[in-house]
Amino acid sequence: MKAAVLYGDDDLRYEEVAEPEVKAGQVKVRVKACGVCGSDIPRALSGGAHYYPIILGHEFSGYVAEVGEGVTSVKEGDHVVGVPLVPCLECADCLRGNFSQCKNYTFIGSRDPGAYSDYVVMPEKNVVKIDESIPFTAAAMFEPCTVSLHGLRVSGYKGGGTVAVLGCGTIGLFALEWARIMGAKKIVAFDISDEQLATAKRVGADEVVNTLEEGFEEKALSYTDSGRGFDYVFETAGSVPTIKMTFSLAANKATVCFIGTPTKDITFSKGLWEQINRKELTVRGSWMSGGTAPFPGDDWSLVAHYTASGEMIIDDGFIYKKFKMQDASKAFEDFKQPGKVKGRVMLVND
Ligand SMILES: [Zn+2]
Ligand SMILES: [Zn+2]
Repeated sequence: MKAAVLYGDDDLRYEEVAEPEVKAGQVKVRVKACGVCGSDIPRALSGGAHYYPIILGHEFSGYVAEVGEGVTSVKEGDHVVGVPLVPCLECADCLRGNFSQCKNYTFIGSRDPGAYSDYVVMPEKNVVKIDESIPFTAAAMFEPCTVSLHGLRVSGYKGGGTVAVLGCGTIGLFALEWARIMGAKKIVAFDISDEQLATAKRVGADEVVNTLEEGFEEKALSYTDSGRGFDYVFETAGSVPTIKMTFSLAANKATVCFIGTPTKDITFSKGLWEQINRKELTVRGSWMSGGTAPFPGDDWSLVAHYTASGEMIIDDGFIYKKFKMQDASKAFEDFKQPGKVKGRVMLVND
């Protein structure tokens, strides 16, 4: 089979590799689409890979090409998405259903061979069957969609209230869609790109705020009841300015949730940090996805359900550019200019 193999920084080669064999309990997926995640950028461009050569790609969809002995939940031809996390299912965290906290995990596309390839093999448990009406490129965004849902669920969000979503990348857009689906009273989306804010509006933001504008904070607070701030603040960018914004935008007694992976060291003024005390904020972190056990958790089946029903909108507006798998190396070009890529870069197999 063919795969885009990473040999070193900015050295991606589309070449012939051995096709993985299916063992008992495993499923071989013919990859149709695979997203380039933000976490793949340091892996591909700046020494962030676990080893070389490696096949990246953990946000993927396709159809079942072959099933190993004993596999019963899917059959050849089924449309599926892959769950990249492969937890041990035996440690104390796994037994509690906290799979994303497993310490003995492996991960398709960072530790195990990923989906920048024709085929990828995984345990049966890592395959989620999807409705055939869902385009493969949309299904390849299920993974970030579960990450966003997880953030809302661990924050105890159950609808109502005013919701701020900081950052309108893929995770942010999905976070605001979940807030809409779960019944937010008002959703305000924040970003530095008017283009991303337009997408945010299209998929459910009631108001949008460009944080490069002077006085943006006042404007944002004016969208909340008597300017008291937001009941829920979801940080999805992981950037220093958005992380700092969270505490100022939060209302008294609000919940602040950090979903975005931080990109740099951060220092807080004591005044800013003190807002956690004064406002009696609930501060939550969220990591990957999960939900109610068994593995992979119902975050995945909820994404599959709401996408099939059309309530979760995952359309081409989320895609920045599409490339054929053989052009995978070109897919990383635009990432060399920070801030240029808006939305997902998608790799597709014919
Ligand atoms: Zn990812
Ligand atoms: Zn475990």
